[in-house]
Amino acid sequence: MTTLSQNAFNVARDPGGFTISFEAFPPMSEAGQGKLLDVAKNLEDFDPAFFSVTYGAGGGTQERTLNTLADISQKTGHNLAGHLTCVGATKEQTNAVAEQYRKMGVKHIVALRGDTPDGVDQYQPHPGGYKNAADLVAGLKEIGGFDISVGAYPESHPDSPSRNADLDNLKAKFDAGADRAITQFFFDNHVFYDFMDSVQDHGITGPIVPGILLIHDFWKVKRFAKMCQTDVPDWLEARFAGLQGDTAAQQLVAVSVAVEQVLEMAASGVRHFHFYTMNKSDLAVAVCRSLGLKPARNMRSVA
Ligand code: FAD
Repeated sequence: MTTLSQNAFNVARDPGGFTISFEAFPPMSEAGQGKLLDVAKNLEDFDPAFFSVTYGAGGGTQERTLNTLADISQKTGHNLAGHLTCVGATKEQTNAVAEQYRKMGVKHIVALRGDTPDGVDQYQPHPGGYKNAADLVAGLKEIGGFDISVGAYPESHPDSPSRNADLDNLKAKFDAGADRAITQFFFDNHVFYDFMDSVQDHGITGPIVPGILLIHDFWKVKRFAKMCQTDVPDWLEARFAGLQGDTAAQQLVAVSVAVEQVLEMAASGVRHFHFYTMNKSDLAVAVCRSLGLKPARNMRSVA
């Protein structure tokens, strides 16, 4: 008898089965930069659809995003995506970064509004800037020539007055020309399935890629999840109970949690998964291998 999981493994082994992508953030130091390059090289072998680098909303890390993209672009063969936020910047400043991306060969932009700066209660667009992500997408479409991803929130964005308003906002991003949406991380697949039902009911037909957070430190993740209003289910809490400080055991549990999450969604027909790597490759490699994804380079040398 073929189980759901076996079906999903077969999907993973099939070269046309499912695709993956990875996300990292620009490191703070030169040492971190070197480490991230190793991570990018380790993950290159899994032939991801793209490798994306986040963009700091406060201004401090914009240069680092550009440097990180340039470094990975020069030293690996990754198809890169640069995140771009519009908070706190004029349209001209935002467009200039998009042009810099284009100049360095980065033609995929993850277009975001960005977070409200610390100490500010409510989001305020820059008077000369893009109003939000949908407006940014429209601006990028006007410039032309970019593949555009946007963010989606299965548990609704914390600023959103209602689920309906959040879906209207997502629809506006697709209507403005987004090619796909990547979700905020979530742990309960039913949250994603319910979201996808609402997305469909809302007339949104563009592809939605689930974002999978690899849990390096459950207690840090719990704090982060609270800020994002992402539910941490009791069953997940129970899996990590008593493992605080035991990195090795947490990693083993984390791999199994991510693999189960992906296999179940793959069995339900999801075909692209975006992994939040947290700038580490150990869990990502273990998850990809457990999913039956073979490093392309090894396959080439075996063939
Ligand atoms: P939008 O889709 O524009 O809006 C999100 C919510 O805010 C909507 O529900 C809407 O109701 C409300 N809203 C929109 N416009 C306004 C307005 N003018 N006034 C009041 N409320 C409004 N952040 C970074 O800083 N850098 C990154 O690289 C980054 N990468 C991300 C990648 C992914 C896949 C995701 C899901 C998020 C990422 N974020 C990043 C976080 C993101 O910037 C925040 O979640 C931000 O608060 C919302 O961005 P958005 O593009 O989803 O906003």
